[in-house]
Amino acid sequence: MLNNIGEWKVIVLETGDFRLDGGAMMGSVPKVLWEKTNPSDELNRIDLSLRCLLLDNGTKRVLIETGMGNKFNDKFKTMFAIQQSSNPLSDTLSEYGYLFESITDVILTHLHFDHSGGALNSDDIGTLVPAFPNAQYHVSESNWELGIAPNPRDRASYLNENYLPLKDAGLLNLIAENSEILPGISSYIVNGHTTGQQLIKVESEDEVLVFCSDLIPLRSHLKLPWIMGYDLNALLSLQEKTKFLQEAADGDWWLFFYHDPKTVAVKIEKGEKYYNVVKEVFRQNG
Ligand SMILES: [Zn+2]
Repeated sequence: MLNNIGEWKVIVLETGDFRLDGGAMMGSVPKVLWEKTNPSDELNRIDLSLRCLLLDNGTKRVLIETGMGNKFNDKFKTMFAIQQSSNPLSDTLSEYGYLFESITDVILTHLHFDHSGGALNSDDIGTLVPAFPNAQYHVSESNWELGIAPNPRDRASYLNENYLPLKDAGLLNLIAENSEILPGISSYIVNGHTTGQQLIKVESEDEVLVFCSDLIPLRSHLKLPWIMGYDLNALLSLQEKTKFLQEAADGDWWLFFYHDPKTVAVKIEKGEKYYNVVKEVFRQNG
């Protein structure tokens, strides 16, 4: 199990599941290869999780990602086969004794809808308000710039209503590239998937965990050539992944997956062709 990274208690929040097109998730990898590890449904969609991470050191309670939220309509729900409770974040937090109000920091790796959807809630009269009223929301500077004016290629993934009100609420903290967000928690910027995606590196007492977000969304993407078709720049993703996996193997890092339906986290070592998984934490609940 993965209970702690040094001083940080690690709480895995399974907020829900959804599906995306298997071909789009695997890019140039043919289906005969990927369907063995990631079976598809009749619409060619594969399972993805929405696994947020809560870190608690007794002073700070830090939430990484906010899931899909619940502001979408039935058409959207059907299109992405979203399966979750009607209040996914508050339900999973309360299982572990936390409230929205107890969270001190929310870190978003990037503003795509499946990562930022739970950042805001509708109040009684339908106004969007921060779901975590006492939290600072940490977003990378360059991803924020893109999110408020997305390019045509990934416009469909950036829904302003998921994050724009954070600025007016005064809770937004824009993070410069590769900088410390909180003591022991820093950003690791990659730009292949989208501009300014910040992976989150947690370091404490010689232990390291990295929240891999959409650099390595599924366990299958540990293989270098497996790059999402969604990525803005697949070649850059390949370069970034090559460097990142080498560092992860050398540093004995835990790699935490947001989207893998079965595997929460792994440690890897360099093998002959690919990196081999040497430790693996499987999904327990949700
Ligand atoms: Zn994603």
